[in-house]
Amino acid sequence: MNLVVEVSLPKEIVQMILESAKTLHPKETIFLLRGKTRRDMISISEIVIPPLATYGNGFANLPTRMMPIDFSIIGTAHSHPSGSLALSVQDLNHALGKIILVTAHPYNGLEYCAVYNRKGEKLRLRVT
Ligand SMILES: [Zn+2]
Repeated sequence: MNLVVEVSLPKEIVQMILESAKTLHPKETIFLLRGKTRRDMISISEIVIPPLATYGNGFANLPTRMMPIDFSIIGTAHSHPSGSLALSVQDLNHALGKIILVTAHPYNGLEYCAVYNRKGEKLRLRVT
């Protein structure tokens, strides 16, 4: 059994997510995340902007059927302009990949970020 407990991602990717969230606020920002699973850890290596039509329209509107089949997509990141770090039912129902990263308003650093698995369980977040 592989149980992921930790997600590591480069500082530059965290900064890009936070800055994009600030720029688009009060709309939602959304990114796809690429990376690898190793034992109990997921390492994010790349951030991908989803199709332009959906950008800023919210995570729940991400048209999953229009997405290219890409097994390197390991999860998604999106913002919560409401300021809540908790996942919504829509977040869990529309999850892509293995992890869901959320950043909440005012997006001022790691304490405004949380990462979950698809069951909605919180994982450790490590910035490298
Ligand atoms: Zn959400």
